[in-house]
Amino acid sequence: MQFNYIANTSLPSSSGQTIVMIDPSDGQPYDEIQRSNAADIEQAVQAARAGLNTSWSKLGAAERGRLLMRLAQKVTEHAQELSRIEQRDCGKPTKQANADAAALARYFEFYAGACDKLHGETIPYLDGYSVLTWREPHGVTGHIIPWNYPMQIFGRSVGGALAAGNVCVVKPAEDACLSLIRVAQLAAEVGFPPGVINIVTGYGHEVGDALARHPGIDHISFTGSPSVGTLIQQVAAERHCPVTLELGGKSPQIVFADADLEAVIPAIVSAIVQNAGQTCSAGSRVLIEQSIYEPLLARLGHAFEQLRVGPATRDLDVGPLIRHSQQQRVQQFLSDAQAAGIPTVAQGQVVPEAPATGFYQAPTLLRDVPVSHRIAQEEVFGPVLCAMAFRDEDHAVELANATQFGLVAGVWTADGARQFRMARRLRSGQVFINNYGAGGGVELPFGGVKSSGHGREKGMEALYGFTTLKTVAIKHG
Ligand code: NAD
Repeated sequence: MQFNYIANTSLPSSSGQTIVMIDPSDGQPYDEIQRSNAADIEQAVQAARAGLNTSWSKLGAAERGRLLMRLAQKVTEHAQELSRIEQRDCGKPTKQANADAAALARYFEFYAGACDKLHGETIPYLDGYSVLTWREPHGVTGHIIPWNYPMQIFGRSVGGALAAGNVCVVKPAEDACLSLIRVAQLAAEVGFPPGVINIVTGYGHEVGDALARHPGIDHISFTGSPSVGTLIQQVAAERHCPVTLELGGKSPQIVFADADLEAVIPAIVSAIVQNAGQTCSAGSRVLIEQSIYEPLLARLGHAFEQLRVGPATRDLDVGPLIRHSQQQRVQQFLSDAQAAGIPTVAQGQVVPEAPATGFYQAPTLLRDVPVSHRIAQEEVFGPVLCAMAFRDEDHAVELANATQFGLVAGVWTADGARQFRMARRLRSGQVFINNYGAGGGVELPFGGVKSSGHGREKGMEALYGFTTLKTVAIKHG
């Protein structure tokens, strides 16, 4: 049984109810979390407000950095444990779960080093005045986190907020949250005062909604679907609470005929099968220049046929999807595509020993996908890649920008001038040239345009979002 973690104490929810956790690899229950409600959020917010008045707010920036660095080290010492927890929660292959634990430590390390480098400015002004700006923490920040990368998203969001001096109330996803409860315990062990990191589990429409509405929350960082992001922004607007929204994507990879196809093929495959396609920045569309469309599709099809899908601990290319309803959702997209006559080029294979009760989906490559079809427009959140051909640069840009999303784009070409032109013309928060994701560096500001959200997390840029700027003008004559 797992508990909320409020003021460095494990607590049951006030409802006395729990939610059963299901292992995606076999569909079997293995643990329970608290089904919290508004009363638990009230308790967590009070603890957080009290946390603001502990030694936390008296810590100098360098001291805060040292504390975060101790947490980074602690996470590294417990990386195997955290990785195994999240592997079971999410169905992640071992390599992915290990990478996520390492990324969590790296976020804390990065933001530990950033604490004492976040500063304001002095502004030249009228004679007799000195003007300066201070970057102050919002106070209590609320963090609503999805199930696809709990540790990574906690690291980037909570790591940045703590570095800026905030205290946090975190609502992880009901499908996967055990690793975050453990991280909060580790934070207490290294010396984070009570109330600085608080975790409240439960359903979004109950506890997530209560968090977003609570007047004691001074900033909300939401990572999740565009539809819930809209609700969060509406609720927050009622009390003018600032919001960062990290939402979905339908990211294109654009391959010109002069690209290095040896590099392109593995990058395109991994960008859609990583985490079973349940990645906001998944490269879920591949746009291919007409002259290489057939040969590249043939090679991609061959690569898809080699992919193996199975239980998380088998550490194959692809693990299960998070839950049964997600599996059904992906299958519905594929049957809609089939009904529309969209051809399948190739599929990977679910290994025979995968339990029939697990939530497996073979990676699927589709071709000639009409740009207007819903499978080319909506986020499938599964290992489904849509291929389409383009005539020239203008056509590539038109297709790439033709969805409601704008999170990430990849461009593959040897032409240097075209690299810059494409980077400028793509409506996207990140553009990668001759790579995709650049290894996911924590230093690289991340976030979207259009329905992919607004505000930025990761890198130094995130710290501006987790602070409010105060201008001080002194008239001294
Ligand atoms: P979701 O929107 O259903 O849930 C996200 C979180 O919001 C969960 O903790 C959930 O419990 C909570 N929630 C649900 N309803 C709520 C409500 N009414 N009020 C407050 N909170 C509520 O998303 P999901 O299915 O968990 O995650 C998948 C989505 O997240 C995809 O769209 C994906 O692209 C997106 N995502 C974006 C990023 C990014 O950085 N841009 C990263 C990861 C995932």
